[in-house]
Amino acid sequence: MKGMYDIQSLHAEEFINNEEILETLAYADAHKNDLALIDEIIEKAKERKGLSHREASVLLACEDAERINRMYDLAEQIKKDFYGNRIVLFAPLYLSNYCVNGCLYCPYHIENGHIARKKLTQDEIRAEVIALQDMGHKRLALEAGEDPLNNPIEYILESINTIYGIHHKNGSIRRVNVNIAATTVENYRKLHEAGIGTYILFQETYHKETYEKLHPHGPKSNYAYHTEAMDRAMEGGIDDVGLGVLFGLEKYRYEFAGLLMHAEHLEAVHGVGPHTISVPRVKPADDIDPGEFDGGIDDDTFAKICALIRIAVPYTGMIISTRESQSVRERVIRLGVSQISGGSKTSVGGYVRPEAEDERSEQFDVSDTRTLDEVVGWLMEMGYIPSFCTACYRAGRTGDRFMSLLKAGQIQNCCHPNALLTLKEYLLDYASDRTRALGEAMIAKELSNIPSEKVRENCASYLKEIQNGNRDFRF
Ligand code: SAM
Repeated sequence: MKGMYDIQSLHAEEFINNEEILETLAYADAHKNDLALIDEIIEKAKERKGLSHREASVLLACEDAERINRMYDLAEQIKKDFYGNRIVLFAPLYLSNYCVNGCLYCPYHIENGHIARKKLTQDEIRAEVIALQDMGHKRLALEAGEDPLNNPIEYILESINTIYGIHHKNGSIRRVNVNIAATTVENYRKLHEAGIGTYILFQETYHKETYEKLHPHGPKSNYAYHTEAMDRAMEGGIDDVGLGVLFGLEKYRYEFAGLLMHAEHLEAVHGVGPHTISVPRVKPADDIDPGEFDGGIDDDTFAKICALIRIAVPYTGMIISTRESQSVRERVIRLGVSQISGGSKTSVGGYVRPEAEDERSEQFDVSDTRTLDEVVGWLMEMGYIPSFCTACYRAGRTGDRFMSLLKAGQIQNCCHPNALLTLKEYLLDYASDRTRALGEAMIAKELSNIPSEKVRENCASYLKEIQNGNRDFRF
């Protein structure tokens, strides 16, 4: 089914329309030196209502150094206005690397006969989750390959149930996000009922022909089924969905336009855009060499993409994983990233036991190998508040209810104190002495930045309660 560009359509090739993307890229190329137009778009972006994929694509094509610096400054300012200085922390948890797909960039592809295949039992999940809780994590992203026999939806649901049920010392996982293959409305409904946070699915590439080449067989080879997954997820009741492109597979300008068109489509059809956008880049992995793909991007281009996503969709959280190094993460956190992973392992069972050379199961090489405590300390040294908050989703502030809070400017009276409360829990239960000292100083300073006097007082009294051994307060 192939038609004209139609943002409202439920057909992949109409809402991610190849002709529209090609016209957008041609328009962006034709106007990349049109400084008057670029200034106009930057001015419009200052209204903080976002930009269309065409407008943002012109900015991406622009090579004028002074204008690019203005885009960076604006991204930084928008980030501060919407997200303050908080950075939310999470960790991935790999349940199983059995997979029946043929993805050419992923070492879990079915032809890989030498990678160790592992699937956690519920007891092993318990052990992994306790290890994650002992690090201080409260928020997980579940990862699994696609394999109807080894990883059926019942296995994922049982695992979610197990994870929410584990309370070790003061630990608990309060939000489980799920990154599993595209599935049916019925299965999305089951995930929703199991209490997941965000459903995350990376598009990998929006370019249909490239998509089909990179996914030669298996259920994931169906471009339309994959691309329409978020519509099915929302139909199944999931309010918060997370988009992402695997940068490096295809030309980045194409992907950038496709990504924004996807966000525009969700907003147009469901009244709420994506909750998050992830910006992974292809990494070396077991039998994968990123150099084999066409779209590799350098760190400057990567930073520009991140800044422009921040400007184009100001209400959408941005996630960066440990695929990126400390220095790249430092740069893009400033430009708009709001969530990062820390202390991650991308192997199945890797939190409990490091793997021997001959039984490795990890999905890709991690660049940032620091511990969570080191990441928390590093964030505070840069002036960011590490947040383990999961309050919104637990208070039912998902989808458009979360967006209204953001748009009403209430974040500083809500997310900010919640960040301080969860940081306090972390400091008391898990931090090293050094990190604890940094954190206590930060809390003392940041308490005064809560605008509402009432909230400030309540926050101070909750902090005392936490000091006295109580846990899990939130606004
Ligand atoms: N199997 C599910 C799917 O098909 O969406 C779950 C996701 S998989 C465990 C998580 C993501 O890792 C993929 O969507 C892909 O973008 C990313 N990934 C795969 N191979 C990678 C590599 N070599 N480097 C970086 N990221 C990779």
